Amino acid sequence: MGIQNISDEIYALAKESEAAAKPYFDKIDAIAFENQKRVLCAFSEARVAAEDLLGTTGYGYGDRGRDKLEAIYASLFGCEAAYVRHSILSGTHALALGLFGILRPGDVMLSVTGKPYDTLDELIGVRGEGSGDGTLKEFGVIYEETELIGGADFDFDAIAAALRPEVKMVYVQRSKGYMDRQTLSCEKIGELVSFVKERSNAYVVVDNCYGEFTETKEPTHYGADLCIGSLIKNAGGGIARTGGYLAGTKRAVELAAFRASAPGLGAECGASLDENQFMYRGLFMAPHTVAQAIKTAVFAAALFEKMGYGTLPKSSEPRYDIIQLIRLGSEEKLCAFCEGIQAASPVDSFARPEPSEMAGYGDKVIMAAGAFVMGSSIELSADAPLKAPYSVYLQGGLTYESGKLGILSAAQAVKDIENKE
Ligand SMILES: *Cc1c(COP(=O)(O)O)cnc(C)c1O
Repeated sequence: MGIQNISDEIYALAKESEAAAKPYFDKIDAIAFENQKRVLCAFSEARVAAEDLLGTTGYGYGDRGRDKLEAIYASLFGCEAAYVRHSILSGTHALALGLFGILRPGDVMLSVTGKPYDTLDELIGVRGEGSGDGTLKEFGVIYEETELIGGADFDFDAIAAALRPEVKMVYVQRSKGYMDRQTLSCEKIGELVSFVKERSNAYVVVDNCYGEFTETKEPTHYGADLCIGSLIKNAGGGIARTGGYLAGTKRAVELAAFRASAPGLGAECGASLDENQFMYRGLFMAPHTVAQAIKTAVFAAALFEKMGYGTLPKSSEPRYDIIQLIRLGSEEKLCAFCEGIQAASPVDSFARPEPSEMAGYGDKVIMAAGAFVMGSSIELSADAPLKAPYSVYLQGGLTYESGKLGILSAAQAVKDIENKE
């Protein structure tokens, strides 16, 4: 297992796959270039100075570095405001701030992309009925959903039928998450935003996890009220050590900030400690790092297509997130794939991932990650719920070279199982 054991057969396949993937790399580079330009312009417009990289302690009042970083996020997301903090624990926590910040008893939250990401089940109260844990449901929020048609398109008829004054929030998950469906482009989300805004005053809130910088615009450029994500995914560029963000309209961001601190305090306080420098450097790196991750994903798709496996998206299809789904078809191959990824990691390469129960997830989950930032999935990582059709969800890669080596290690592990069959 691992990089030392990649066979000539797999290297030969890699060469063919890379040749097949190359034409798509130019487009990825062009998007990264445009986004890098946007990032640098936003930095210069905010007049980022050396002292902004230093932090504050205590209440964190007047933390200029923190305030400028939030202004930069707002500029990059084409919106009024942003709340970007190392004190946001994860993507799920950032989403919780947005949902609890906006929704009040009697309000309806309407998810228009079917069931949200697994960790939201317990937050909304879909599972864990009457847990007493303080879910949205226990606070009197009503949850409803409409499905995507064919796993790809908004069901506008169903949405129109569901919209009524009580619907305070229309919720969109941009990325496929652990679902076998399409990731939505910003343009498509924009069509939804227009549709909703013509009929209702509801906030349109987007779970933007894994989508940042894969296009040159974000859903907020198309009028979404709030985009929410994690800094140990795309936006942290592989450098941020922890954190999350919410970007959107002034009011939506303010409501989330009231929830994060307290009504009356909002975004005014919150010491950045030593984390500003990592969040700045991460944002600077993000366009490039995301491009490395997407190249890794395209390469993986091309290679596993050559090996005869189903992929989503296909190597030739456009990308709106960094996730690559590969249909491995058996538990044995799924686990072998994850072991192959783990063995090619810079940290914990000697560890062997094992399926286990995880807080927030319904099925057993296997996760492979040997990352510098613990649990970071902008670094090469693979995970999967242990259920048919045994698809693995692959993402990340700080550099294309290391990502490619990880994929080759995983391909070898799967090949070894095929050879035993
Ligand atoms: C990762 C992810 C989340 C949750 O983020 P965590 O940081 O794991 O809590 C939510 N939605 C989607 C689509 C994700 O990919």
